[in-house]
Amino acid sequence: AFGYNQAVQENRNLYNMLQELRGNIRVFCRIRPPLHSESISSIEHVGNDGSVMVCDPVKLQNTRKIFQFNKVFGPTTTQDEVYKETQPLIRSVMDGYNVCIFAYGQTGSGKTHTMCGPSGGLPKDFGINYMALNDLFNISTSRADVKYDIRVQMVEIYNEQVRDLLSEDTTSTKYPFTPYKTSSNKGLLNLPDAKICQVQSPSDVINLMQLGEKHRASSSTAMNHRSSRSHSILTVLVNGKDIAGNVSRSSLHLVDLAGSERVDRSEATGERLKEAQHINKSLSCLGDVINALAQKNSHIPYRNSKLTQLLQSSLGGNAKTLIFAHISPEAESYTETLSTLKFAQRASTVELGTAHANKESSEIRELKEQVDTLKKALASKE
Ligand code: ADP
Ligand code: MG
Repeated sequence: AFGYNQAVQENRNLYNMLQELRGNIRVFCRIRPPLHSESISSIEHVGNDGSVMVCDPVKLQNTRKIFQFNKVFGPTTTQDEVYKETQPLIRSVMDGYNVCIFAYGQTGSGKTHTMCGPSGGLPKDFGINYMALNDLFNISTSRADVKYDIRVQMVEIYNEQVRDLLSEDTTSTKYPFTPYKTSSNKGLLNLPDAKICQVQSPSDVINLMQLGEKHRASSSTAMNHRSSRSHSILTVLVNGKDIAGNVSRSSLHLVDLAGSERVDRSEATGERLKEAQHINKSLSCLGDVINALAQKNSHIPYRNSKLTQLLQSSLGGNAKTLIFAHISPEAESYTETLSTLKFAQRASTVELGTAHANKESSEIRELKEQVDTLKKALASKE
């Protein structure tokens, strides 16, 4: 009765059309499993075609909304399955592409789980960060014709200030880094003096990631709070040189974004309010940049936040972008879930809603023309 299949099909046709237009921006949606078995879900349906249907758990039926993405990973999806879908993108780094992967979503929706894995997790639960580096090392050793050099940077952006997480200077509470003024250093973070560490093996990477996390924690008494209120960027720089002497340079940015939840203005004051304002601003700037890129605008507003400024040379051009939109299934998360899905949909398509409206209006125009023709035909018969 609801015509779900028909609605999905229509949505998908439009989506595929728009997908052609928008090039290198991909969106995967991941739904975290419920943490309490008794919780009521706001997610009604997950299609294996990349669609997800949600409904307001209070108002129910007539609030159903369908969203379409490149992929939707349901609550039972494993880390391996997620990585398998991400792998082609990661591998393209070895062919000289710049790639940015963002984990977006409210705090507690599973961003860190996707990127890093559960803390102290078993190797099978490692997230994309580790699996990607492991993969890049495997490719680099398997190719006799190209010599690769892999290096890593790790920074955090908190309240629009950048901090180097690999620097030994843990006592510094200052954020000494100023972004480059130009984006001539293609693929590099636009940070002239963030430490770059050479890595030779996956275990080097694990050590560095742990060091980064330690530095991140030492700067704050409430590590959990801080990590959900800041963006962290793990950058992998890959230089390749083949036997003919051709060189390639590319980068992979793995970004665990600050929680996207709206902070209640009446409750947040002082530091909390400031953090919330910085996060809102930088996430909406990220959305603006992605939209401007998708619409091939001549002006891309990179300058409006540190995040987009740092990643400027890896967003746009022939760089590839993937956003993981994380949602929590619980009923009480419904408002945030909807807002995440809307952000992701906006990033993933050039205004699906508008395109839909245009389609309808052109159909109506055609029908009007048909009516006019028939009227004329009738009139000429009389
Ligand atoms: P975020 O980084 O978005 O704040 P976390 O990654 O810390 O969220 O996830 C919140 C909690 O949910 C953690 O306890 C985490 O282990 C768990 N969790 C998240 N995603 C999954 C998943 N796909 N499978 C199992 N547990 C998960
Ligand atoms: Mg997190």
